[in-house]
Amino acid sequence: MLRTPEVILDPVPLRPDPPGTTEARLTVLSGPSGVGKDAVLAAVRRRHPDVWVSTSVTTRAPRPGETDGVEYHFVSRDQVAAMIESGELLEHAEYAGNIYGTPRGPVLRRLAEGRPAFLVIELQGMRQVRKLMPDAQFVFLAPPSFEELERRLVGRGTESQEVIRERLDQARIELASESEFDVRLVNDSVERAADELVSLIADPVPRSRK
Ligand code: 5GP
Repeated sequence: MLRTPEVILDPVPLRPDPPGTTEARLTVLSGPSGVGKDAVLAAVRRRHPDVWVSTSVTTRAPRPGETDGVEYHFVSRDQVAAMIESGELLEHAEYAGNIYGTPRGPVLRRLAEGRPAFLVIELQGMRQVRKLMPDAQFVFLAPPSFEELERRLVGRGTESQEVIRERLDQARIELASESEFDVRLVNDSVERAADELVSLIADPVPRSRK
């Protein structure tokens, strides 16, 4: 069987802190595919290189320009299955025919060190994290409009018609989930959204408002 890369294989016991015991919090950004999470994330990395972002595993093939270990850890289905089996993923979800997941160890280690952690994931994963770590801060990235979202999904030009259709269906479901989040961020300007996000990561909304 294929071995999982060492960087991922680093088990940490899952013991979320009870509410109010640590200062650092996890911030989770989610939103429909095509809303611009990647662009906002890229702007966060560019403008605020000190912000720590979790690197997910995925079974999808790298797109041109993507590097293993940077955008994602690109892994096989067998590797993901082994990681799920051994509890190495904080959350995982099947999305448009591929599996995506957040390695648990690095995130919990950051938080245990009292430092903020940041995830960018889709809705099913966000719901798993919310159950596990209700004290995290959940930020919904909203498109300026559904038409704009549709234009972006079609305009990206990297996916087949079928994948685009799946993603639009998923986007409709995800748009309806807004009420499950703590904060809404409209992506009408990538730079502004990135800066607001970084403020939220550093200074989360108070727990009492949740
Ligand atoms: P893409 O294939 O376009 O990079 O990502 C597809 C979707 O998967 C996006 O909505 C992205 O945010 C989400 N995603 C990326 N990493 C993870 C992860 O670790 N877990 C979950 N649940 N979703 C992820």
